[in-house]
Amino acid sequence: MKTFVHRGQVTKVVFGSGTRNRIPEEADVLGCRRVLVLSTPDQADQADQCADLLGTAAAGTFTAAAPHTPVEVTEKAVAHAGSLGADSVLAVGGGSTIGLGKAITARTGLPQLALPTTYAGSEMTPILGETEGRRKKTRRLPEVLLRTVVYDVDLTLTLPPAVSVVSGLNAMAHAAEALYAEDRDPVAFLMAGEALDALVRSLPRIVRRPDDTEARADALYGAWLAGTCLGTVGMALHHKVCHVLGGTFGLPHAQTHAVVLPHVVAFNAPAAGEAMARISQALPGDAPANALFQLGGQLGAPTALRDLGMPESGIEQAAELIVQNGYWNPRPVDRDAVRTFLTRAWAGEAP
Ligand code: NAD
Repeated sequence: MKTFVHRGQVTKVVFGSGTRNRIPEEADVLGCRRVLVLSTPDQADQADQCADLLGTAAAGTFTAAAPHTPVEVTEKAVAHAGSLGADSVLAVGGGSTIGLGKAITARTGLPQLALPTTYAGSEMTPILGETEGRRKKTRRLPEVLLRTVVYDVDLTLTLPPAVSVVSGLNAMAHAAEALYAEDRDPVAFLMAGEALDALVRSLPRIVRRPDDTEARADALYGAWLAGTCLGTVGMALHHKVCHVLGGTFGLPHAQTHAVVLPHVVAFNAPAAGEAMARISQALPGDAPANALFQLGGQLGAPTALRDLGMPESGIEQAAELIVQNGYWNPRPVDRDAVRTFLTRAWAGEAP
């Protein structure tokens, strides 16, 4: 008999094409009258377009969102929001911009809406990661859950294929770890499997034709499901490894997930039979870890940590940090095993 606890989501989700036009209505439903639109410098044009859409309900824009949510950027954004009398924030972008929105919510209580433009999934989670100095601290704060997420596939068409691939593999990593999470539940398991199916189908099509709207919609659907899994069940060794590598060596987020996933799946495989069977259903043929490694190769994703800038001398330090601070994993983790798979991942070898 199954026993489980399932947490429902509080976030309203609108999904489709052209759905950004619903932003004024969605803001109005929440009672937002002065919305501060957030983006990275790269997406300042999209932020301006959203401010135009909002018309008199736009308080202004803040276009300096940066990776890993540095607190000094958040402090500037909070001051800007205060000076404009903003009563809410709208993040237009990926995990960096949505992270800034969460950091503002955590400090001010302002509600957040988002138009996600990558597959990272942050919009569906209560997780806030912030960087102060060189330290990244991650917390689960239910109060930063977004109020409304509007997925508009049109906004993802400009995401370059190479970024789409690593972002999609980042989403697959959320789904893979949800399949063997300590607190997995039947709904999260279904969503994780469906997310893998959607991403495996769509990413090769996006590489061939980045403007394939149907494939883009499928990937975004998979990303939503994977992000929901990340928000509802606990993650394990894979997310710990990526957190350590990103924080210690400044490695890029999605690319690191893409390289590490097959190696952690190989390590966890003997202790996670049901999860491996579901990954194989999405990716038939080879053993799950090898199938993931081959998929990354076919999609042109990076396969070696050394190509992302990790020094070989960092392997020992990373292994030490990864085994610190107990966390749940289906298979007990020890330093030798971590050193072994990190060495392979560093060199770009198959798992
Ligand atoms: P990102 O938000 O840093 O975006 C990468 C770059 O792509 C940026 O310059 C961005 O402006 C640009 N971009 C985004 N969408 C685009 C589009 N459609 N067209 C053209 N350019 C576009 O990347 P990310 O991978 O989405 O997010 C990474 C960050 O999110 C990391 O800091 C990570 O820790 C965090 N994250 C947090 C969670 C969470 O639950 N808290 C989950 C996943 C990721």
